[in-house]
Amino acid sequence: MKDVIIGLFASAGYDRAAQGVAGAGRKLAAELGGKLHAVLLGVADEATKSAVASVVDVLTIADQAALQEYQTENYLSALAEICKAKQPAAVLLSNDTYSQELAPRLAHRLGGSAGADGLALSVVDGKVRVTRSVYGGKAMASIELKKSPAVVWLRSRAFDTAPARGTQAEISQATVELPAQLSATITERKVEAGDEARLEDAKIIVSGGRGLGGSEPFIELRKIADILGAQMGASRAACDSGWVPPSWQIGQTGKKVAPGLYIAVAIHGASQHLAGMSDSKCVAAINIDKDAPIFKHCRFGIVEDYRKVVPLLIERLKELKK
Ligand SMILES: Cc1cc2nc3c(=O)[nH]c(=O)nc-3n(C[C@H](O)[C@H](O)[C@H](O)COP(=O)(O)OP(=O)(O)OC[C@H]3O[C@@H](n4cnc5c(N)ncnc54)[C@H](O)[C@@H]3O)c2cc1C
Repeated sequence: MKDVIIGLFASAGYDRAAQGVAGAGRKLAAELGGKLHAVLLGVADEATKSAVASVVDVLTIADQAALQEYQTENYLSALAEICKAKQPAAVLLSNDTYSQELAPRLAHRLGGSAGADGLALSVVDGKVRVTRSVYGGKAMASIELKKSPAVVWLRSRAFDTAPARGTQAEISQATVELPAQLSATITERKVEAGDEARLEDAKIIVSGGRGLGGSEPFIELRKIADILGAQMGASRAACDSGWVPPSWQIGQTGKKVAPGLYIAVAIHGASQHLAGMSDSKCVAAINIDKDAPIFKHCRFGIVEDYRKVVPLLIERLKELKK
């Protein structure tokens, strides 16, 4: 058992998260001395199929009618059946809600081990090790997954993308047996208005906290984000106050992000918030309190009222953009 399988959802396309999973898969397969397989679940467009086929060795497409839309039991059965046939050493998934839901169940079905929120992968004595951050990013844990296959979902942007191989993968179609009866069916699907690209994939995030005092200042922060081509985030306190949508929440119970630049405005830096953003490569913070914990985690810090700093920052960024 040396091969690695990456599980991808056609509905997401070959997005940055999928590219990171493929990158992690390629490195792990090289360490194990095996092949990199992709299983593409759902109906994919040609661009997605071809992008995936250019980076993996073997591509299996499972696109029968019942797999057109995500449904946990169907996707789990499909992935489990294909994995059982291929006997991989590891199955890697992205960090979206569906993958987080599937990973432990798949590990159970395959008699393997599950790993969550992987930031790095390695092979030690033939076993897959997952590195993840713990205690709100204060420490790193290295976890050996003893039972094979290791089924791990990975943090977005923590892994480089996979290089194209120059040749296309061997492609096959799989028709899998799906449960005759489902315990749950999707009756309605609502897309949240204004839902943008995935926060987990953002290269720059401008995030606001309770210190902003309301929803209005987020309009100002949005100006910074627009100039920088960034996405908006927030602390739980700001989301819970109803100033911004819950989907913006970053942290232990929110999204785990790892952008190149994270700008934290009027955010205290509680451990639960740090748990979601401490893998940011560069953190810049604006806070009126010089003792706010966020300053211990940032490269650039401004101790000042955001109401003074934000307008100046917008002006300066506009000038620089000219
Ligand atoms: C189980 C659990 C899970 C949690 N999960 C999350 C999570 O996922 N994400 C998360 O964020 N939190 C989470 N929390 C909540 C977390 O503990 C904090 O309460 C929250 O992060 C605080 O948000 P905040 O920093 O915006 O607000 P506050 O703690 O109120 O901090 C506001 C900051 O703004 C500064 N400020 C005030 N006025 C100004 C001004 N004019 N200019 C500049 N700075 C100013 C203050 O100095 C202060 O540092 C969780 C808590 C629990 C118990």
